[in-house]
Amino acid sequence: MAQQATQVKPVTATALSGAAAQRPSVPVENELSDLMIIGAGPCGLFASYYAGFREMKTVVLDALPEAGGQLAVLYPEKYIFDVPGYPEILAKDLVAQLVAQASRYNPRMVLGERATDLVRNADGTYAVYTDKKGYLTKAILITAGVGSFSPNKLNITNQEKFEGNGIYYFVKHKSFFQDKNLLIVGGGDSAVDWALNLKDVTKSIVLIHRRDQFRAHEQSVKECYNCPQISVRTFTELKSVDGDASGVKVATIFDNRTTKEETIPVDCILINIGFKANLGPIANWGIQMENRAIKVNGKMETNLPGVFAAGDIAAQSDSVKLNLIATGFAQAALAVNVAKKYVDPKAQLFPGHSSEKSA
Ligand SMILES: Cc1cc2nc3c(=O)[nH]c(=O)nc-3n(C[C@H](O)[C@H](O)[C@H](O)COP(=O)(O)OP(=O)(O)OC[C@H]3O[C@@H](n4cnc5c(N)ncnc54)[C@H](O)[C@@H]3O)c2cc1C
Repeated sequence: MAQQATQVKPVTATALSGAAAQRPSVPVENELSDLMIIGAGPCGLFASYYAGFREMKTVVLDALPEAGGQLAVLYPEKYIFDVPGYPEILAKDLVAQLVAQASRYNPRMVLGERATDLVRNADGTYAVYTDKKGYLTKAILITAGVGSFSPNKLNITNQEKFEGNGIYYFVKHKSFFQDKNLLIVGGGDSAVDWALNLKDVTKSIVLIHRRDQFRAHEQSVKECYNCPQISVRTFTELKSVDGDASGVKVATIFDNRTTKEETIPVDCILINIGFKANLGPIANWGIQMENRAIKVNGKMETNLPGVFAAGDIAAQSDSVKLNLIATGFAQAALAVNVAKKYVDPKAQLFPGHSSEKSA
């Protein structure tokens, strides 16, 4: 259904800066939320629980088609051991728990839309724009992590042809690799950990790395070398892949010392050679940055009134920066309670105990 244009007067107002000075020509919704959370990673999800607990009308926006941030995209099948209350939990299971926790208060989830522009309206509210719409909100919490990230790619023959049909950069479900001949490219933790994690479901694994020094945990590398299901090939690179409409069938690899080539049968190739993180438009919103992070004070406030940041993207003054889920959770709770008071100055800062609220 087409959205009506907003009643809020066009911004005579403080266009924030740079790109934000332009109002994108997309429809703006009439609905005004109390808090828009940009980024549905663990920090944004926990923040949305807290915003619901504080009876704030909340919208959670994420560029990715699913919630969970780095946990959902980069390491869904890895165990996390340092989240309070969970001696161990798979990243994807933690995401499911966070979504369930947030759902208690039914936040509006807008997935698959990337925030591109931010404009402050004359009445002090904000319009957050995506390429599809504008959303009006009284306050904003930016939990955009390291920004939107994209995998590093190789420059090999037929790469584009087989991306998504034999060449992959992420593992969403281990079962996808069931009984497959898998080639893994990379020498960091992701490549090595996936080799170990997938060894029991795949038919075979060849792990190639262009050097003989791995950037992964020593113990994990040792495990790979000792594992009969994994063939580790160092000084080896991928040259090309080939196959048919049903997917990849072979890969040509070569020894980078001798240039000797070898063609091996493979069904799937997992390329794990790192990611490029891109903060993208956020850096142009007039928000004070510090080393690719948003500068916040002890109350998680940015330099813009009513705009807060938490999690990996936040650099808190007079603090140390630990990019961990546990620290992000605490920052999210702080930010939301301060945002509550910003939106409703009569509200208490302290939220009360959740245990004292009826279920
Ligand atoms: C391999 C790996 C293992 C890890 N293991 C652990 C561990 O064991 N323990 C631990 O505590 N931490 C671990 N971490 C770190 C942890 O994942 C991060 O600290 C955590 O994900 C940060 O959460 P966040 O919500 O701040 O950001 P993120 O998880 O990065 O989520 C940010 C979200 O914002 C979205 N976004 C970005 N820009 C925009 C935009 N313009 N518009 C809309 N959406 C946007 C992104 O799509 C993303 O979904 C690990 C990280 C990695 C890579």
